[in-house]
Amino acid sequence: MGKTNASWHAANRMPPRPTLAQRVDWHIAHAAHCACRTMPETIKAEISRRAGQETAKSKSNR
Ligand SMILES: [Zn+2]
Repeated sequence: MGKTNASWHAANRMPPRPTLAQRVDWHIAHAAHCACRTMPETIKAEISRRAGQETAKSKSNR
């Protein structure tokens, strides 16, 4: 597995009972800063679901 960014984890604790949205936000930030574990399939699915919604809102990025 990848290495743990312990300082990032110390600064970014998951709430005790996170909502799906909180978990998704956490995992997105986590993936950018740390590689201690992979993203669960439920989180990946929610991210692609969100991405679809944002594209539908005609958000132009580049
Ligand atoms: Zn981590």
